[in-house]
Amino acid sequence: MTRNLDFPKTLTTFPGIFQAKKIQTLALQQYKANNFTNNLQTLALNPESFYTTLLDQSTSKKHLNQIHSQITVNGFQSNGFIITKFINVTSNLGDICYARKVFDEFPQPYVFLWNAIIRGYSKQNMFHEAVGLYARMQKAGVGPDCFTLPHVLRACGGAADLEVGRALHGQVFRRGFEKDGFVQNGVVAVYAKCGRIDEARVVFEGLGDRTVVSWTSIISGYAQNGRPVEALKMFKKMRDCGFKPDWIALVSVISAYADIEDLGQGRSVHSCVIKMGLECEPDLRIALTTLYAKCGHVMIANSLFDEMEISNVIMWNTMISGFVNNGFCNDGISLFKRMLSKNLRPDSVTVCSTILACAQLGSLEEARKMGEYIDKSEYKSDVFVSTALIDMYAKCGSVDLARKVFDETKTKDIVVWSAMIVGYGVHGRAHEAINLFNSMKQAGVGPNDVTFIGLLTACNHAGLVEEGWKIFNSMKDYNIEPRHQHYACVVDILGRAGCLERAYDFIINMPIKPGVSIWGALLSASRIHRHVAIGEYSAEQLFSLDPYNTGHYVQLSNLYASVYMWSGVARVRLLMKERGLAKDIGCSMIEISGKLHVFRMGDISHPESSEILKEHKRLDTRLKEAGFVADTESALHDLSYEDKEESLCNHSERLAIAYGLISTRFGSTLRITKNLRACVNCHAAIKLISKLESREIVVRDANRFHHFKDGECSCGDYW
Ligand code: ZN
Ligand code: ZN
Repeated sequence: MTRNLDFPKTLTTFPGIFQAKKIQTLALQQYKANNFTNNLQTLALNPESFYTTLLDQSTSKKHLNQIHSQITVNGFQSNGFIITKFINVTSNLGDICYARKVFDEFPQPYVFLWNAIIRGYSKQNMFHEAVGLYARMQKAGVGPDCFTLPHVLRACGGAADLEVGRALHGQVFRRGFEKDGFVQNGVVAVYAKCGRIDEARVVFEGLGDRTVVSWTSIISGYAQNGRPVEALKMFKKMRDCGFKPDWIALVSVISAYADIEDLGQGRSVHSCVIKMGLECEPDLRIALTTLYAKCGHVMIANSLFDEMEISNVIMWNTMISGFVNNGFCNDGISLFKRMLSKNLRPDSVTVCSTILACAQLGSLEEARKMGEYIDKSEYKSDVFVSTALIDMYAKCGSVDLARKVFDETKTKDIVVWSAMIVGYGVHGRAHEAINLFNSMKQAGVGPNDVTFIGLLTACNHAGLVEEGWKIFNSMKDYNIEPRHQHYACVVDILGRAGCLERAYDFIINMPIKPGVSIWGALLSASRIHRHVAIGEYSAEQLFSLDPYNTGHYVQLSNLYASVYMWSGVARVRLLMKERGLAKDIGCSMIEISGKLHVFRMGDISHPESSEILKEHKRLDTRLKEAGFVADTESALHDLSYEDKEESLCNHSERLAIAYGLISTRFGSTLRITKNLRACVNCHAAIKLISKLESREIVVRDANRFHHFKDGECSCGDYW
């Protein structure tokens, strides 16, 4: 359908000869320099055509200003055609205020002028203004035409104004536009954008002749309303009906596949995009980037992302959280830095994702930098950000810095208090946790379920059985229903204290079905206290609940090894083999002056490898001199151990420690992150190293923090 603006000739005012002469001179003066080759005769005979050409060629606001004063000087300020054109061009150039000023000066705007200004606002995404102007237009007694309604409907969808949308839908019928495809598409889109996708579908089904646009409206509607499956069904129908999708439909389809994380189908749409030659369409690239980031192909997402100049913060957030959720925390942090270097303003989501990246990385150095950034930013008093910072510092091993943020947080809500209590909890600082809990109550803040997790974890790490039991039972005083995690903490507390039967009875009598973390806690306790029967029972439960987690097999095998039941060890190995499970490869990271160094067992790839091995040998000798004997036999059967005999003291964390010792100044704290649970031998060795070398060593393993100091560990040898 082509749209010709049929402007009634009677409404235009023709200038006299004198005016035409004046205009000629003016136009010549003003535009000769700019190489305008307008046929100046047209100005006299057909000013509409003259100004249309002139306006179509104008690219700057300054230029528009000149034209406007000329229009006024020449008495065309009430020429509806010229002013309509002027408003269209001005708003297209983004100066909607100027367009509005010109509109407001027009004595009694006709429908074309109203259309132009409403369209202008709608195109600038100033939806409320567009809808407001439409209301004024009706008040002024000007009825809409088939050009008005699509723009008002678009604005109405953008403003998600369902009430006005319904009123417009009524007008569509009253004014006889129900056969107009453009108008009806607008109605479909309004309902879809206002979250009334089912009503949108009813209108869609009633459409006489559907176009690509109407199909796209309904597909996007489903995609944007969180119904990706229906979006994809409609997409299939559309293609079955012989329609070729446009890029807008493809954006919705890719988003739908991203939502259901169907990379395979998403990819086939991607190749479709390439075949159609649409791969440069920015919105499609954004949708594809989101698809790959969400489906874990963060590097592909990143290469698409890198090829675009993106200033949209949501997109940066998608990419940063894509990195963080897929374990590429360093890349997430670098991307954040890149965003800052481009002078883009991060929002609180960006900031919180980056803080999470630092927390997951366990890098205190990065954490500190992030803390400094926040200190100077507008997010300093954002309670979500403060909470994330407390959690970050605690996870990066510095409970004291976490406390500093906590103390500086002015309005402390329950989430802030809980984050700090949990921070103390994971570091085994039970007394601080309980003291803070008491201050919290004094401050008139009631606990929530997370507070209790912090408290129970703290009691657990400090071996406070009765205190923990009391805290667990006090939950009902606050009307807080214990969750699975609380029960798991209690099992851990009882298990650590060696009360395995009591823990078992507790599980059997629980009102909820015990899950992986509860049986996991009992299995670990059985390993530490060498209780084969309860350990085997827990392992059986775990093997059926969580059959592909190698950690459980390792625990059971270690339990057998600790009581020299080698047949048991062999059985577990066989079971793992049958289930096609491989041992996880251990690796440890240490950060030295802002750079992360990763070590695997027996790793000699590090450039300073020979010095590291020398230091490692020296430590080994010192350990032996101090009377340290490795438990070689059980260690050999430890599935978390690599097979070679010399691997015994070659575990990745030991290399990381050796490197830390030679590359940091005496007395500074070493901070190491390990992907697996620390083994018994390394744990004992690190305790002794902390004493012999007078160093604090913080190891964050797969399960918890170990603060080694003066020959002791904060975990109390229970992990
Ligand atoms: Zn080890
Ligand atoms: Zn420990």
